[in-house]
Amino acid sequence: MDLGIAGKNALVCAASKGLGRACAEHLAQAGVNLTITARGVEALEATAAYLRGLNPAITVKTVAGDIATADGRAAALDTAGDIDILINNAGGPPPGNFRDWDRTAWNAALEANMLTPIDLIKATVDGMIARKFGRIVNITSGAVKAPIATLGLSNGARSGLTGFVAGVAREVARHNVTINGLLPGRFLTDRLTKNFDYEAQKAGIAVDEHIRRASSNIPAQRFGEATEFGAACAFLCSVHASYIVGQNLLIDGGAYPGTF
Ligand code: NAP
Repeated sequence: MDLGIAGKNALVCAASKGLGRACAEHLAQAGVNLTITARGVEALEATAAYLRGLNPAITVKTVAGDIATADGRAAALDTAGDIDILINNAGGPPPGNFRDWDRTAWNAALEANMLTPIDLIKATVDGMIARKFGRIVNITSGAVKAPIATLGLSNGARSGLTGFVAGVAREVARHNVTINGLLPGRFLTDRLTKNFDYEAQKAGIAVDEHIRRASSNIPAQRFGEATEFGAACAFLCSVHASYIVGQNLLIDGGAYPGTF
């Protein structure tokens, strides 16, 4: 399917690895010019080289920096120029026990997973409105619909973002600007592997055994592939998705048990 977005400009945050990278890959294949960010330069440049190889017709710019800081966001916005497509992403907060989280831990989670995407939406949405095209996808978490107790920092911060977006998405939709959330279930990326280490230790079992047990609870009986997530993201950014507004799409192999 031609996604109809060749030549558009995208800022894909936190995109040297995992889900962000997979979104960048599918946008590259659709002919979208990319600015990708991450803190670590080496993986970021390796990903940029891969994306240029994937589609030599596009430009791929890199910004090394922490997207959860004002400087990191300013650098990303300066480099990207006029942004038609914004993929909000950052690392998730650490798991733990809510009794151990002080104000510093909460502020870090809110900065990375709520206030940073809101800042980037604020910085880009009026340009999108003026150009009569915009696609914003926030990578959040299945925990927005089905909270995970040990990920309380994530549950709280991402739910705050989701609530904010529910309002603003309806305000901008008339300009062909859409804002939606993509909610990953369990994808085998670096992030999940780190969580597995913690969860396996907590349960007192080997990591391999924890992975086996965890995937057996997913109706699809497996973890997701990042590329499946990236493909859904690119579709939400396409011309075909202009009527999908303010939605929160779970990609979780059926793990969420509700009817809706
Ligand atoms: P990942 O494989 O660990 O990749 C994270 C990417 O983000 C890396 O490129 C990392 O590069 C970059 N990054 C992290 N923090 C950043 C920051 N502050 N500024 C700029 N770049 C940053 O993680 P993932 O699995 O793709 O997860 C992406 C998001 O989805 C996370 O918020 C995660 O919590 C959420 N999520 C994932 C799953 C899953 O199953 N994988 C499930 C639910 C939710 P650097 O470290 O070099 O900066």
